[in-house]
Amino acid sequence: MQKIVLASGNKGKLKELQQRLGHVADFVPQSEFDIDTPEETGQSFVENALLKARYVSAKTGLPALADDSGLSVNYLDGAPGIYSARYAGPNAEDGDNNFKLLAELDQISEDSRGAAFHCALALLYPEPESSPIICEGIWRGKILTEPRGDNGFGYDPLFQPEGLDCSSAELEPEHKNEISHRGLAMAMLVSRLEGIKE
Ligand code: IMP
Repeated sequence: MQKIVLASGNKGKLKELQQRLGHVADFVPQSEFDIDTPEETGQSFVENALLKARYVSAKTGLPALADDSGLSVNYLDGAPGIYSARYAGPNAEDGDNNFKLLAELDQISEDSRGAAFHCALALLYPEPESSPIICEGIWRGKILTEPRGDNGFGYDPLFQPEGLDCSSAELEPEHKNEISHRGLAMAMLVSRLEGIKE
């Protein structure tokens, strides 16, 4: 199996990527190499995913898969978006970000709490001028008024997926990974990789 470096230090993402993609390649987390993380200066999820994959692939000489993702809330004009990980500040933890999101939506009615998770995956091979494989997924839902559930990570306790009566932190990990923004992007990536093998 080909070895691919997962260009992320986010434990929640790594778990979901390894769980769903483990059968297509030998995924090694970036933490196994002595490399830092590039600054996320892109203006979109795709730009940031590509920037991270490019950096890690150049540093390791191996193919790299990066995930850039986040939550866009309609009432907040798409915020926190690409700034989801650092919504409450540069060293914010998930709890701080969730607290800030609830505060921003305080007193906002259910009808106006629409939101969507976005995920961009970028797989890049180290060969010069090789084209990246980019796959994107979107998961629509709304923001709850209080946290629910202990699974997942990030904003999962506050996100109620469309058509479900629970938060994404109340879903079994395998179920979330089937239907989430990342799940959709990963399914697309698997079919692209299978297409390449044929
Ligand atoms: P990134 O590492 O810059 O891509 O930031 C991703 C951030 O978006 C995470 O730290 C979470 O706050 C949020 N996020 C992305 N995907 C998910 C998810 O599946 N569940 C909950 N939060 C997520």
